[in-house]
Amino acid sequence: MDISFIINELGEDREKYFNATTPPIVQSTNFVFKTVDAMRHALKRESSVPFYTRGCNPTIEQLNHKMAALEGAEAALSFGSGSAAVAAAVMANVQAGDHIVCVQKPYSWTYKLLTQIMARFGVESTFVDGQNPKNIEKAIRPNTKIVYLETPNSFTFELQDIRAIAKIAKKHHCITIVDNSYCTPMNQQPIQLGADIVVHSATKYISGHSDAVGGVLCASQVMVDKIFAGEFMTLGGIISPFNAWLMLRGLRTLPIRLKRVAKTTKKVVKFLKNHPQVEKVYYPFLPSHPQYKLAKQQMEQRGGLFSVVIKADLKGTELFCNSLQRFLMGASWGGYESLIYPACAMYDSANYSTTTLPYNIIRFYIGLEEPEVLLADLEQAFERIK
Ligand SMILES: *Cc1c(COP(=O)(O)O)cnc(C)c1O
Repeated sequence: MDISFIINELGEDREKYFNATTPPIVQSTNFVFKTVDAMRHALKRESSVPFYTRGCNPTIEQLNHKMAALEGAEAALSFGSGSAAVAAAVMANVQAGDHIVCVQKPYSWTYKLLTQIMARFGVESTFVDGQNPKNIEKAIRPNTKIVYLETPNSFTFELQDIRAIAKIAKKHHCITIVDNSYCTPMNQQPIQLGADIVVHSATKYISGHSDAVGGVLCASQVMVDKIFAGEFMTLGGIISPFNAWLMLRGLRTLPIRLKRVAKTTKKVVKFLKNHPQVEKVYYPFLPSHPQYKLAKQQMEQRGGLFSVVIKADLKGTELFCNSLQRFLMGASWGGYESLIYPACAMYDSANYSTTTLPYNIIRFYIGLEEPEVLLADLEQAFERIK
């Protein structure tokens, strides 16, 4: 199946809805039946036949169908947020007494899930530097059930070799979960590399317009059925039909947006890398990055997130950030707008020295603006702190 077929045609049942090009938003919570037999049939297949919207809704189902196909997975489930998808994937595969090996510095709320919530239910987690697959293997215990990866991970963008690690996990009877939000299925396909579950914050690139929160999980049919019957239906963290529809709309332009982001990011990274007021750029697609080779091999294309350490004290860093006009300041990423996330916003200036990230590191996200506009904005902000 070619990508544009998946995006434009797969699961589009136009004859069912007046031959409308774009699918309707089916807001109905409930679906009704003419006979007991028809109702009985639907009840038995609650995950795939519209019966009640927490289980199956036609608009959400269209999103699931496309996401599974894009990831090369058998099935998918959508959630109200990426964090809900992460939590369901993890919780469905452990019980009290089990152990999880997780890559160092995962997404902050994934870290909280493992260290605070799962720990409360008797599931222990070990965090290791995933750049060397041997570190993962060393951390695996007889009771380890999950190897959790996020490649590249946030802020410093270390990679993990999915193929090598999934192989190790399999050998030790563990499943591998990969947070693929940074890459999307366009740029990296963890299931093809041996992973068992892929999770996404669809809020980022998949929505692409900074206007809908959502999450998706892709896996085998057996795994999806297990998660559906357990955490999905009981915790009920579903996406709304309207947000699923916004995700479908986002998917239509995902490849072209990612191409544009990649092109602009290349220019901005090059500019920053050569700038005299920049100390360091963290970006897997720089030849100087220690995992450049793995990035080229594992990822189809560069992404729009990277971090920069600027040559400035705390005051200078704040002035630089405050001076940017076209880069907006905020969390999240993956939308049309370029963003900065200054690490120093995460802690009080009095105690920045106690954290692992330096005060002068700034995460950048490159959106859809013209590259020249972004370069000029950066230059005027650097001028302010000269
Ligand atoms: C944003 C994000 C999440 C969480 O997704 P939400 O949709 O905000 O719940 C998980 N992982 C990564 C890598 C993210 O960037």
